Amino acid sequence: MRTAVGPLLSVAWRNALDLVFPRRCVGCGAFGDFLCGDCLDATPRAAPPRCSVCWMPVLSPAEGPGADGVCGRCRGGTFAFEAARCPFVFSGPAREAVHALKYQGVSAIAEVMGRMMAECLDAWSLRVGALVPLPLTGPRRRARGYNQSELLAREVSRLSGVPLARRLLERRKGARPQALAADEDARRANVADAFGVRRGSEAAGPLLLVDDVMTSGATLDACARALRAAGHGPVYALAFARED
Ligand SMILES: [Zn+2]
Ligand SMILES: [Zn+2]
Repeated sequence: MRTAVGPLLSVAWRNALDLVFPRRCVGCGAFGDFLCGDCLDATPRAAPPRCSVCWMPVLSPAEGPGADGVCGRCRGGTFAFEAARCPFVFSGPAREAVHALKYQGVSAIAEVMGRMMAECLDAWSLRVGALVPLPLTGPRRRARGYNQSELLAREVSRLSGVPLARRLLERRKGARPQALAADEDARRANVADAFGVRRGSEAAGPLLLVDDVMTSGATLDACARALRAAGHGPVYALAFARED
């Protein structure tokens, strides 16, 4: 019953949303889609050369990856996830898309964003057992009406066939928004112990964390740490955009 009714509801919901938010490109304002082909093409891709773990760009030979393609920071074992990938740099239309999804209630833009993420996952050729969206605190989810990471993960799941482990991670305490944390140490302290793993949740094999933006990687790291501590893993990460 759920499977029969779900798509109908989502079509009705989508039509209703189109009345409230006519599909206009967040980049150029053209009607038709939330991110038009021209703006997608013009959005900076988070393309190599990048560190194969944290996906930060290589700036100079001194900072660059060694023979193993891993940057100095990651050689020190900074992150609990094995590797992260993002299709876009967090700028231009990619930044506008994230803002529309996160702060302007344009939940339907998750469709095109998730499609780009699914293409990134396909090119990565990573085999994972489940997609794990980053959870929001209850109040924040209620305020927004949805969890943007879950919408993205749903779309990636639909296109890739990888199951969604929607309830595996939970938010244990109300950390301040990461955007308000001053530096990387503050970001790490802000999210340490913020995530817990629900026992008996469905998830086997390598896991892929799904989020909208990767900044310092501290939040994804905290999630990966919680999953590893609960016996899950290895853990990978996929975000729509990378803040370089
Ligand atoms: Zn456009
Ligand atoms: Zn790195």
